[in-house]
Amino acid sequence: MDELTRIFHRAAEHAAAYRRSLPERPVAEPVDHAALRAAFARPLNRSPADPLTVVDELVAAAGPGLVATAGPRFFGFVVGGALPAATAAEILAAGWDQNAFNAALSPAALAAEEAAAGRLKDLLGIPGTASTGFVTGGQAANTAGLAAARQHLLTEAGWDIGRRGLHGAPRLRVVAGEERHATVDRSLRLLGLGTDCLETVRTDARGAVDTEDLRRVLTSGPGGPLIVCAQAGNVNTGACDDLRAVCDLAHAHGGWVHVDGAFGLWAAASPATRHLVAGVERADSWACDGHKWLNVPYDCGYAFCSRPDVHADALSYTASYLTRADGTVAGGADYTTESSRRARGFATWAALRQLGRDGVAALVERCCSLARRFADGLSAAGFEVVNEVTLNQVLVAFGDGTRTDRIVRAVQEDGTCWMGATTWRGRRLMRISVSGHTTTEADVDRSIAAIVRLARAL
Ligand SMILES: *Cc1c(COP(=O)(O)O)cnc(C)c1O
Repeated sequence: MDELTRIFHRAAEHAAAYRRSLPERPVAEPVDHAALRAAFARPLNRSPADPLTVVDELVAAAGPGLVATAGPRFFGFVVGGALPAATAAEILAAGWDQNAFNAALSPAALAAEEAAAGRLKDLLGIPGTASTGFVTGGQAANTAGLAAARQHLLTEAGWDIGRRGLHGAPRLRVVAGEERHATVDRSLRLLGLGTDCLETVRTDARGAVDTEDLRRVLTSGPGGPLIVCAQAGNVNTGACDDLRAVCDLAHAHGGWVHVDGAFGLWAAASPATRHLVAGVERADSWACDGHKWLNVPYDCGYAFCSRPDVHADALSYTASYLTRADGTVAGGADYTTESSRRARGFATWAALRQLGRDGVAALVERCCSLARRFADGLSAAGFEVVNEVTLNQVLVAFGDGTRTDRIVRAVQEDGTCWMGATTWRGRRLMRISVSGHTTTEADVDRSIAAIVRLARAL
């Protein structure tokens, strides 16, 4: 084996050994943060080191601080373990060292993005004519979608946002549910709109926007250019807004609808859950993640926009968004906030190819059914499931907030599985998210058994 092959092999072997260890290793272990930092913080060597040694040292240093988020019993946040083909594609993307800025730098990266985008739109119920930016995640996709909204509405109002910025611009209204994801607020801050412009809409018992209250807010507000942020997949309950009603109401007021569907948009990919996002095609921009429910490696998200020209006007730094001098069309960095970029299309293309249409649907259905299994098992054990489990999220109360927090901590320390805690409607709750392709019924049953054992012992 030549030297380069040996180095890449070594990294791949370490990664595969780690993956193989996941089903049985503790999901998280108590971390000695000082030791972990010390392992990385050695003084910088003067002379170069052997790359093979560097790989081994990195593995030794990082090991104690790795969390088995890619494993079958990690149910914290909304985190899925990357699929084998997608992970291998990511390794290739690094090996090829492609810059997905434009088609001149990597025709392959852009062709893969274009093909993957077509499949994504098809699976997610987004019009095939929409533009797609391969971004870092839901946060960046929300920023891109809201930037397009801002661009469109201010252009319509006769304001050149690109040149004049927001100094003296017409005021934009932003209407969003009170249970919107916090990244929406950060996007509004980054875009100079600020959070004071937010008019919040009440949510119903499920955690979805109350469309009657939306109607009230829209008609009672100050008027003017309007953005409505809808949500597919409440990060606590999994609830999806009634997208058809939200879009119709918002459009009747001349508004732009941005859907934050970081994980919930995947409901569209399964016939069993598609009804939850009915009307999704009517929106104007959409944010979705690859690294959550599609099980693509970090980082990967998608910003879709119904108006490719607006999308490119908002984000690209060439005005010639349709056809360039070299004959290429807009793509790559034109639809993202980055310039030089990792070639994210390869991993998404590979994930979709590995799963196929039926495999994506099966992944979504299995996670939802495993979430219901959690809900049924924990209620049967006498604990209170607080949300209506319509997607892959489950909220559980174990008595009062202090007790729930103690049980969540005990579960995290036990290492059988990992779930986080959240506050929803003023209550501290255990939050369970099932998002990975490797989780089985046995993993759920083993996790329920651990939770019940720890809860009863406390
Ligand atoms: C996770 C999430 C985000 C943020 O996505 P990142 O990939 O972490 O940037 C935004 N909105 C919702 C609803 C989410 O669940």
